[in-house]
Amino acid sequence: MLTRFAPSPTGDLHLGHAYSAVLAHAAARAAGGQFRIRIDDIDGSRSREAFVGASLADLAWLGLDRDGDVVRQSNRLGDYAAALDDLRRRGLVYPCFCTRADIAASLSAPHGPSGAIYPGTCRGLSAAARERRMADEPHCWRLDMARAVAETGELAWEEAGQGFRTADPAAHGDIVLARKDAPASYHLASTLDDAAIGVTHVIRGADLIASTDVHRLLQALLGLVVPIYRHHALVCGADGKRLAKRDAAASLKALREAGVDGRALAADLAADRLPAGYSLQKP
Ligand code: GLU
Repeated sequence: MLTRFAPSPTGDLHLGHAYSAVLAHAAARAAGGQFRIRIDDIDGSRSREAFVGASLADLAWLGLDRDGDVVRQSNRLGDYAAALDDLRRRGLVYPCFCTRADIAASLSAPHGPSGAIYPGTCRGLSAAARERRMADEPHCWRLDMARAVAETGELAWEEAGQGFRTADPAAHGDIVLARKDAPASYHLASTLDDAAIGVTHVIRGADLIASTDVHRLLQALLGLVVPIYRHHALVCGADGKRLAKRDAAASLKALREAGVDGRALAADLAADRLPAGYSLQKP
C-alpha cells in the first residue's frame, strides 16, 4: 500500500488537512506500506514557498513520518507536457481562447461539478483558425469530453469498503487541462502524479469525490494504473460548515502555538475523535 497527502501551499493547514493526512498515514502504516508527501505548487499566482515549509513543519508536529522525498509538482512539468502532447496528437484536446467574461456572458452555460460547463465556443474552430489565433492569443487547452467519453466507454472506480462507483465525467463538460498561466490543471497533474508515485490508495476528502469522475477518465485515456479511492468525512467547525483555509482558529499553527500536543491530536484524529467544537460531516 502506498498513500499520499498532497497539500497546496496556498495557506496554513487546518484540522481538516490534519485529519486527511492522519488517515492516509495510518492506512499506510497499518499495512506496512509507504506514506508520501506531494506539494501541489503549480498554481503560480497562489502558491507561496513559506507555506511549503509551514506544511512540512505541521506534519512533523503531528508525528507523521514520511517515506521518500517530497514530490513537488513544479518539478514534474515535463510529464504534464508529454501527456498533453499525447492528447493533442489524438485530437482529444483543443485550444480555447475564451475569457471568463466570454463564458459568463454565454447565458446558456449550466453548472456542473467543476463549475460552469463550457459552452463549446472554440471546439469547432478550423485547424487554420486555431493556428492563426494560437500565434498571438493567450489560450488554455480543453478536453473534448464527448470524444474522450466515446473513446473510453463507461468507467468505474473502487471506493474502499463500498464497492464500485460509476464515473460521470461527461457531467463536467469540456474541462481545462492546461491553463494560460499554469502548465497543468489540478486534474491532469494529480492524476499523473498519483500514477507516477505508485499511489495504490487515494485517501482524500469527500469534497473531491466529483473530481474522481475526471481522474478516472484521464487514467483510461492515458493508460494509467487505477488506485482505490477513499473519500472521507470532512471536518466542520462549530457553525457546522466545513473548514476553510481562512478559519485561522482551526489552523495547525494556532493549535501548536496554543500548546496542543501534535502527536496526541493525531492519535485522536485517527480514532475519529475531534477537539471540542469540531465534528465530522459524513459524506
Ligand atoms: N492539493 C489538492 C488539495 O489540497 C490535493 C487534492 C487531492 O488529494 O487529490 O485539494
